Amino acid sequence: MASKPLTGAPSSMVGDNGRKAISTPNDRGVVGSRPPSMESSNSQPSAPVKRKSVYENVMAQFDKAADLMHLDANIRKILAKTENEISVNFPVKMHTGQVEMFTGYRIQHNDALGPFKGGLRYHPSVDRDEVRALAAWMTWKAAIAEIPFGGAKGGLQIDPSDYSAAELERITRRFAYALGDNIGPEYDIPAPDVNTNSQIMAWIQDTYLSTISPHERHRNIHVVTGKPVVSGGSLGRDKATGQGVVFTIEQWAEHREVSLEGATFIVQGFGNVGSWASRLLTQLGAKLIAVEDATGGIRNRDGINPDDLLEYVHTHGGVRKYPKGEFVDHIMFLRTEADVFIPAALGNQITAETAPWLNVRLVAEGANGPTTPEGDAVLQQRGIDVIPDILCNTGGVIVSYFEGLQNKRKEFWDLEEVDRKLRKKITSAYKRVYDVATEKKTDWRTAAYIVALSRLEMVYKDRGIFP
Ligand code: NAD
Repeated sequence: MASKPLTGAPSSMVGDNGRKAISTPNDRGVVGSRPPSMESSNSQPSAPVKRKSVYENVMAQFDKAADLMHLDANIRKILAKTENEISVNFPVKMHTGQVEMFTGYRIQHNDALGPFKGGLRYHPSVDRDEVRALAAWMTWKAAIAEIPFGGAKGGLQIDPSDYSAAELERITRRFAYALGDNIGPEYDIPAPDVNTNSQIMAWIQDTYLSTISPHERHRNIHVVTGKPVVSGGSLGRDKATGQGVVFTIEQWAEHREVSLEGATFIVQGFGNVGSWASRLLTQLGAKLIAVEDATGGIRNRDGINPDDLLEYVHTHGGVRKYPKGEFVDHIMFLRTEADVFIPAALGNQITAETAPWLNVRLVAEGANGPTTPEGDAVLQQRGIDVIPDILCNTGGVIVSYFEGLQNKRKEFWDLEEVDRKLRKKITSAYKRVYDVATEKKTDWRTAAYIVALSRLEMVYKDRGIFP
């Protein structure tokens, strides 16, 4: 590749498939980003800023691409709306004997390309607006990666650390039971996301399979992906998103003619995506120099060993007091000079306010929606390259697709096969986005949207609109 610049419904309802849904209005409409730490010597206390909702950000990105590609006006109307929005209220008995009520969401954005697919998030920020945005991003991702899935997302507005493991299991199983046949292996397939993991997927799988006929159980194990390998998970699924992030960074380095050997990088979020991306990029000779997670930030310009840090995080619950690095606050972390920044935590982190602080050449978006449209404009103006989330973090959904295939065919692929197929898929997606960015002389996020929307437009044009 030549060395070129990267130019640039309402409260709950019954979906039109007639599946059940229980109404729970909970629209806050505002998802705030994490405020800058007040421990910084140069940070200023600031009044709370009313930010645009995350879904408004998605729609701003969507509109920009739809305008540029002249997306068919009727198809534009369809894709601008979610298909089904399910919310469920359910009781769970706590260890005190008291009952607590929970509200869970599953929002299905679009299934024109295949069954709804997307993660479940357990986090205090989860609300209808955030889940809508995350569901739409899933539709675009599957379209860019050319895998036969639609887009959905779900979650619970909880902080899992408030609950014991046994309570979390009961909450998860009751949530899965409440969702009922709103999920299913050929209809809507959940996967892990923030604060959920293979164990949570195994509980959902077991709950779902326990409610269907024993004769059907073994051909329905792909009701979730990202499950433990012994329960039908795929080798390589745990690292898939981080691996995909690294494959796209390798592509960028190749076409920018940058050597990753000795390149420096910083990572926000040291969970599944952030820790795997760090370990895999380090294996290519790059140097991790700063990490921030929910507990705080650390920096060591001589390099941080990600395996050692991960061990520390497992025993101490976060990076903050890691002894082989100095503490940095949020602003100092973002100002760290490095070649690559991998946001791998929550959304709305790179904004008009924070984008000017970044001191990097590339932002590789492991997280979903880490950059607001205003933040994007600053990055473009400053000439910082961006590999957008809907391309950069598709490794997870691609290997989820492989997991489902293995389940259906009763096959078990080795890790080399999974990695080889993932590299091929994500590299071709990268090239499709690269070609559109070059042809349309546009930024990479808009180019990625155009790739996704063109595919969806073709499908709707072929099939027409019922009736
Ligand atoms: P995770 O729960 O494993 O890790 C989340 C990390 O973010 C933790 O280290 C946590 O401490 C950190 N974090 C939380 N709040 C923070 C804050 N305010 N500031 C800094 N760090 C904070 O989650 P994950 O699965 O690694 O997901 C991370 C991101 O990647 C999310 O945006 C998710 O939607 C996206 N993503 C995940 C997958 C996947 O396969 N897991 C796939 C695609 C995209």
